Amino acid sequence: MAIQYMPTLVENHPGLLLRGGTVVDPSQALNRICDVAIRDGSISAVGDGLPDDGCRVFDVSGRYVFPGLVDLHAHICWGFTDIGLVPDDICPSTGVTAIVDAGSSSWPSQDAFRRIVAEPSRTRVFGFSNISSVGIPTAGTPELASLRFVDVDRSVAAVAGNRDLMTGIKIRMGRHLIGDNGIEPMRLAVEAADQANVPVMVHVGNTPCPLAGIMDLLRPGDIITHAYHGHPHGILDDHRAVWEDVIEGRSRGILMDVGHGAGSFSFDVARSAFEQGFFPDAISTDLYTVNVNGPVFDLPTTMSKMLNLGMPLEDIVESTTSIPAAAIGRNELGTLRPGAAADVAVFELEEGDFEFSDSHGNRRRWPRRLTCEMTLLDGEIVYERR
Ligand SMILES: [Zn+2]
Repeated sequence: MAIQYMPTLVENHPGLLLRGGTVVDPSQALNRICDVAIRDGSISAVGDGLPDDGCRVFDVSGRYVFPGLVDLHAHICWGFTDIGLVPDDICPSTGVTAIVDAGSSSWPSQDAFRRIVAEPSRTRVFGFSNISSVGIPTAGTPELASLRFVDVDRSVAAVAGNRDLMTGIKIRMGRHLIGDNGIEPMRLAVEAADQANVPVMVHVGNTPCPLAGIMDLLRPGDIITHAYHGHPHGILDDHRAVWEDVIEGRSRGILMDVGHGAGSFSFDVARSAFEQGFFPDAISTDLYTVNVNGPVFDLPTTMSKMLNLGMPLEDIVESTTSIPAAAIGRNELGTLRPGAAADVAVFELEEGDFEFSDSHGNRRRWPRRLTCEMTLLDGEIVYERR
């Protein structure tokens, strides 16, 4: 059912009031029914019985109100890679107000990323710069087959010269992508990230060594993406217990990110890990051209999978708002604190019989699904479900 729109009481008044929704904002330890008021593009108040005050009032009772979602891992370098999606095509209708490209571009393509992708986008766009100058032109390109494609100094300079846009270094550590270079590309990526004072995001799955060997090289705030893949060298041991040294690495502050993708999320791995309380820190899609029509679809579908697999809703919201925002050094995002930009996502938690697929062709029928009803960006309605 669509949201009931109540007519404007005073014409040309910029204020908006979301009345009576269940507001889940982990950045404020908030999970209860209350109102959210928006004025001049910012959150002006969150509380009970806020006055209409001439605002446009939306009755969102029975709905959830979240901070605008932050997708920490996607591919949006359309126009100069084969895998890139257009941010404004995929984000507004899914509650995503900020999206991070995970290494499609690198230092030679930084200006293209800015001009073609970031500047024309209404959605907030950020990026991780690939440690390989090749970037990711196609999903299967072995961008680290030669270390001649790595230039630490230029990688650092590209991040340092584009702080508003570039928020980290990306490396893909799959064996088919790194040739015979072993762990050396990782060492170079961490060195660049260290010098640029940003996190490194590591793509795992078919790595040349166990996950613990990768995590040994990482620092607090660095990110393991594809954490729940079903390939060799994953988070589970032969008895399906989460490796002790993986738990230890995470307790040092290394973030575990979903990065679902076309080949990197297994229901069975996630189920076993969740039963042991090993939930992701960040939930991201790894959306690109070949998975946007399934099995990934979008961030709400990915969140719905986590919900049906047993992750608490409040944790799911934190993993798609304040945690990914902090991971890219943007604590001002992913929150409904008064004064913050009014990036807001209104969701319905639908009940029914829904089918979901993981990246390994496994299907599940589950009873709950999160569906975006409305998205606000800087207080402007950029999507409303009809
Ligand atoms: Zn990716």
